[in-house]
Amino acid sequence: MRASQLFFPTLREVPKEAELISHQLLLRGGFVRSHAAGIYSYLPLGWRVHEKIAQIVREEANSFGGQEMHMPVIVPKELLDETGRSAVPVLFALKDKNKRDFFLGFTHEEVVTDIIRSSVSSWKQMPLYLYQIQTKARDEPRPRGGLIRGREFTMFDGYSFDSNEADLDNIYQANYLAYGRIFDRCGLEYLAVEADPGAIGGSENHEFMLLTAQGEDTVLRCDSCTYAANAERAEVRQPPPPAEGKTQASQALPDWLVTENALREGVTLDTAPRPEAQHGGESILTPETVSTPGAHTIQEVSDLLNLGAERLIKTIICVAGGKPVAVLVRGDRELNLPKFARFIGEKDVELADPGVVTEVTKAPVGFAGPIGLSAGVPIYADNELALDKNYVVGANAPDAHLLNVTPGKDFTVGKWGDIRTAVSGDCCPRCDAGKMSDARGIEVGHIFKLGTKYSKDMNALFQDVAGGKHPIVMGCYGLGVSRTMAAAIEAHHDENGIAWPISIAPYEVAIVVANVKDEAMMAAAKDLYDSLNAKKVDVLLDDREERLGVKFKDMELIGVPIQVIIGKGLVEGVVEVGLRGSRERQQINVKAASVNLVSMVAELKEKLTGNGR
Ligand code: ATP
Ligand code: MG
Repeated sequence: MRASQLFFPTLREVPKEAELISHQLLLRGGFVRSHAAGIYSYLPLGWRVHEKIAQIVREEANSFGGQEMHMPVIVPKELLDETGRSAVPVLFALKDKNKRDFFLGFTHEEVVTDIIRSSVSSWKQMPLYLYQIQTKARDEPRPRGGLIRGREFTMFDGYSFDSNEADLDNIYQANYLAYGRIFDRCGLEYLAVEADPGAIGGSENHEFMLLTAQGEDTVLRCDSCTYAANAERAEVRQPPPPAEGKTQASQALPDWLVTENALREGVTLDTAPRPEAQHGGESILTPETVSTPGAHTIQEVSDLLNLGAERLIKTIICVAGGKPVAVLVRGDRELNLPKFARFIGEKDVELADPGVVTEVTKAPVGFAGPIGLSAGVPIYADNELALDKNYVVGANAPDAHLLNVTPGKDFTVGKWGDIRTAVSGDCCPRCDAGKMSDARGIEVGHIFKLGTKYSKDMNALFQDVAGGKHPIVMGCYGLGVSRTMAAAIEAHHDENGIAWPISIAPYEVAIVVANVKDEAMMAAAKDLYDSLNAKKVDVLLDDREERLGVKFKDMELIGVPIQVIIGKGLVEGVVEVGLRGSRERQQINVKAASVNLVSMVAELKEKLTGNGR
């Protein structure tokens, strides 16, 4: 492509609406344009990058038997009614002329299962792995960061169909490994973490995270073994509460995920090191009321009583399955709603509104406690609270708290469990030696073992060898193509613009002609351009009548990894070659330039492997 003909309307100014650097640079470099919050057009440069990522994904999916197909964007409501997902809040809903309800596809489990239930009936037709790379629509509450969270975006979505769990394990593993190769090839350092399945449901699932300070998710990882999890999911290793004392083996990772000797299976909670109880020596005291006027928050109570927040119990009133429940965590900890919901086996769990809190505690918000709640309100407590005694709790009365309250003695805990959010410094739930640390990440992929959830809801059955009928065993595998494009910029940029990894750069090589009026320079540039094109190098010939400085700036902004300058040296038979972002330039013989550039491209691609874990 000749830059003089390329449509890439660059912007000098950073657009005001763009907070994230990837958003700014996509707009500035003329890659995308926005029409409404989260709705974008891809201009030619942007589309080239998009298609390069899509092609890498396609090649890797094909490499283990994936078959590409294409499903509709418009999905009849009845299909989502079958699984109850027509109530998912992010759906874009529409009606046709006859007032029939449709949705814009937000992910396609129901559509693909509809195809499969009418066409697959025997174990002989599986394993089967189908995928598409397609536009998805989600009316996100907070579209943000350009392509990071769009309302229209491109997803690779793969769906596997098997007659047994072992085959599902295989295809899940194949996807897991392929995702790693995809992000390696895209030049992205990723971390695979255990995750919360969210609205999709199912059991085992992993997210692929690109670690960056700008990420919306918090991940925790062990400094000693391979355990890593989204904070929504991360387990906390805790001694069991004294009353129960049962051995609870940690869930082991599948063998193929275990590297070297990093992992020891079957760590029991009983053998886990107990954090020293800070008040271990003290005797258990009797509760007494203390006046705490106006102290509603943990901070306010802790300041007033001059006690650390860890000496307080936070009583959180939630509504689970329509009924109020009280949930207790240490004052300095956060209740983890997704973990708590899984723990009690309820899909619908949310914080109670103030009206419910007042009704249940008979006190203003801020004074809830476990003693004297309305009858029938179950109490759940985080395991950690069993480590200590003589806590401060809300008194369920205005402006009052209770001192010296000990769970188990002063009130009954209905069920103890791991329901707080894990934090940096916690012990690893999988190995003895490790400590957890946290980092921010952008979720670029998410794979799930769905099991038979969708096939049962939608009656997708197959016949086994003996003629028995069973629901098909499914998995689904999502990767954000457009989000990966933005995430790559978050990871690779500098003050001058985007530093694309070569595999996904819009062009691999830019030939910059110092003076386009100089016939010899233009002729040499044209020769090199033709030769590189013939060798299938993606090359941009900057033949614009602009100052050399302007051209450099643009090539740096749009992030072409290799730049060739055809300038004064040509009279001596040399051109200059440099990598984007580096001031160093190599002089090479113009005659050898094409061959050298082909090897440089190959070398840079070669380097993009083995980054992740
Ligand atoms: P998030 O938690 O970020 O909202 P999700 O868990 O809802 O994402 P999935 O349903 O797992 O997303 O979708 C699979 C992949 O699609 C995600 O890993 C992500 O890369 C991409 N994706 C999801 N939502 C968006 C969006 N609004 N914009 C761009 N990419 C998205
Ligand atoms: Mg997800």
